[in-house]
This record gives sequence, C-alpha cells and structure tokens, in this order.
Amino acid sequence: MKKELHMLPPSPPLVQAGLDGSPPDRRSSTPPPLPHAGHLVHLETFGCQMNEYDSELVRALLKADGFAFTEDRERADVILMNTCAIRENAHNRVYGHLATLKTIKRQRSLVVGVLGCMAQNLKEELLDHESVVDLLAGPDAYRRLPGLVREALHKHEQGVEQPSMAVDLSEYETYQNVMPDRTQGINAWIAVMRGCDNFCSFCVVPYTRGRERSREAQGILREAERLIAQGHKQITLLGQNVNSYKFQDWDFARLITAVADLPGIERVRFTSPHPKDFPAALLDAVAGHRKICKHIHLPLQSGNDRILTMMDRTYSRQEYLALVDAIRRRHADIVLSTDIICGFPGETDDEFLDSYRTLQDVGYHETFIFKYSERKNTIAARKYPDDVPEAVKADRVCRLVDLAKSISLRKNQAMIGKTVTVLVEGDSKKSSAQWMGKSDGNITVVWEKSTPLTQPGKMVSILVDQASVTTLFGAEAVPSLAHDSPSRR
Ligand code: SF4
Repeated sequence: MKKELHMLPPSPPLVQAGLDGSPPDRRSSTPPPLPHAGHLVHLETFGCQMNEYDSELVRALLKADGFAFTEDRERADVILMNTCAIRENAHNRVYGHLATLKTIKRQRSLVVGVLGCMAQNLKEELLDHESVVDLLAGPDAYRRLPGLVREALHKHEQGVEQPSMAVDLSEYETYQNVMPDRTQGINAWIAVMRGCDNFCSFCVVPYTRGRERSREAQGILREAERLIAQGHKQITLLGQNVNSYKFQDWDFARLITAVADLPGIERVRFTSPHPKDFPAALLDAVAGHRKICKHIHLPLQSGNDRILTMMDRTYSRQEYLALVDAIRRRHADIVLSTDIICGFPGETDDEFLDSYRTLQDVGYHETFIFKYSERKNTIAARKYPDDVPEAVKADRVCRLVDLAKSISLRKNQAMIGKTVTVLVEGDSKKSSAQWMGKSDGNITVVWEKSTPLTQPGKMVSILVDQASVTTLFGAEAVPSLAHDSPSRR
C-alpha cells in the first residue's frame, strides 16, 4: 500500500509524526511496516467545526500509518467516534450510538474507539458504559492514535479486554506540521490555536482541550498557501477563542490580514471569537479588508449582568453592546450572529428577559439558542445547582427562537431587491437544478442554475427576489462577477 503523506512541507521533508507525541521523525524516509494493512476504519464526527477539523487530522495521521477508511460502517473493523462534550444532545447521541455498537459487536469482530472531548472528560465512565469501548483518545493525543488503534486491534484478536487509552492534555500540542486530510471542496479550515484559558463556568472545553496555545504564524501561512494552490477558495480560521491568537509578535488581526493578503484567496472567515478580544486593529481588518468576510459571530450567552458574572464571561451587557456599536460604526453591514443559553442556574424570568431584550436590541441575523445543561467537572456544576425547571427552560428557548426567527426573516426580507456576491458551494440541498452558496455575511443563497459558466468556487452576483428565515432566493445577475463590496485592497 502506498504510504500517504499529509504533512506540510518543511525542510527537510517530513516523514511521519511521532506516534508518542514527539516531533516528526526526519531521520529516515523508509515507511514503517503496516501490520494493520487491510483494516478499515469508519470515523463519525459530532459537534463543532473544531471537531470536524480534528477528524481531518485523525484521518491524516491514520492514513499516514497505513490505515484505510470506509464510509460504510458495516464494512469497518474499527469504528471511531469523535465526540463533543459541550451539549447534552451530542452526548446523548454518542451514548445512543454506543448502545447500537454493542449489538453489532455481539454479531461480529469490531473495535470501538471514542475520541475527542467526551473521551477526555468522561474517561472511566465511558469505559464502563456497556463495556463496549476498546479505545479512548483525547484531543491532544491524536499523534498516538495509530499506535493505539493497532494495540486495540491486537488486544481484540488476543481476546484481551483491556482498553487502550491516551487522555493526557498537552501544553504544546498544536498539530503543527500535520496536514489535515480534507473532505470539503470550497472551504478549508485551519485551526490557528487550541484550548481555552477562559473557564466560562458552564463550559467543559478548558478541561477537555487544555490551555490556550497558538500555532506558529509562518506554518499557518504555508498551510494556507498550500490550500489555495489545491483550489480552496475560502479559508476559515478556527480556534476556541480564535481572536485570542498570540504567537510572538503576531496577534489575530495581523494573522488574518496576512492570510487574506495571500494571492489567490477569495474569502477568509473566522470562528469562534470571544467578545473580550476585539481591539480596533481587528475591527479595522474585518471592516476594511475586502477578502475578510463581513460576518462576526459574537457569543452573548446572557443579556443579564448577574448571570454573565456567574458565567465568568468577563463582560457586562453594556460592554457587549458598546462592542456591537463599535462594530457597526466601523461597517454598518457587518452581519452578526450569536449564541444564547437559556435557563442557566438561578436565572429568573426578569433575567431571562434581559437576554430577550438584548436579542431584540442587537437584532442578530442568526441566533443559536441552547438550553442550559450541566456539564460534568465544570465550575457551574460544582457551584450552582441546575435549578431552573426543564419546562421553564423549554419555554424560554421557544420564546427566544420565535423572536430570533422573526428578526432573521425581517433582515432577510430587507435584502430583497439587492444584489449579493455569493461564493458558489454546490447544489442546493433540495434540488440539483439549483445552486447554493454563501453571501459575504454568511447567509445561505439559493438560485436556479442558468449558465454553465457558474461552478462551485466561482463568485457570482445574485439579485435577491425572495427570502425565508434562513435563506435568500434570487437569480444570477451577471455571471462570475468579482467582489462588489467596498474595499481598500
Ligand atoms: S471562551 Fe468560554 S465558552 Fe468559549 S471555549 Fe472557552 S470556556 Fe468555553
């Protein structure tokens, strides 16, 4: 089997990442033996874009070690689940899958592995769960994964029921020099930093992904250049607190500008920022650079100061609103989206109404609304009883969803009659006779196919003639138009 290399090209050329978390071994270019050749891996991903990105890393590391992948779980010898611990939903889905896998394991030989945040956070609890898990690997342990999978396969063949496990957090691991095995066509993600130092009281990320560390800037730029050369038109910079990026004298404003300045790139996005790290230089970059998309996801979480303090979010409602004003003063058309949690411990009706009013006042284009669910090991789980009744939480979620939908619809309807520049992503979900793409502000746009010149990866102008809560509909105005937004570059 040909050994695939998915690493960035440093000098001298990379061979393979160390399996024990050590730097890549450059002493020999001889591929290691492949005792597991023929074993097929099926990988399922739950949760956020960071997990999608991590799955790309996992595929790269396993393929470089000789493993092959299958989309068909029936054919797989190894099923890996890259999990998310942030929300109860994702958590429950993983437990549901484990129950199904237990049934499959009774019928045939299978190794089951749990990766990611649940593996890191729950450890023994997951191993105990229906005794179905053979392997656990946390988000900082993926360089060891090929060895762990081989070990788990070997134990399985020998009938040894002792799980293989790597759940140590690292202060340094950024997977620098591992080129992810990407599946997306138009967009490519680059994780520029990992971990989080903020310790918001409700959030498990600092415990599952460790402390903040940023990748070397030149490595990020080399990776971006390579992605552009491979045909990716959009790069999304990722991080748990992407705008807290700091490497030597590089901050996030400098980094995103440098990526957006690379020849051949069409668009740069970033997610997810924290409201505490928006210096003027970053606002200038987003507002002024035509290749940096006019969309900011600005997580609110709550509109009430007492709840924000209990959440350890480090800003007040007033400070948050001042930031929104500053963003809109710099560029009135920047599209804002947010996250809001309903039913945080102790949240009263009046305190909930502060979130409701903030949503009304800011008028986000898109709002992601979550019911508070206690996460094991978090500060909130230790300090605050989860005391808002489920029915009250559900009612608050419904009220916010109704408001958010009406705002999104109003904002989308205001686009009717305007022309938006869209990066074509592919067929619409509903019909292969329609294209789907995203506006600069990250709004989904759908239109009838009318010219063979339009293809995925092209920028086109769409005259909007209809709008729903989530989507703009229209017709292609002029094929393959370049950007039409104001620019300084
Ligand atoms: S900033 Fe807060 S919510 Fe975001 S990852 Fe860090 S701890 Fe979690």
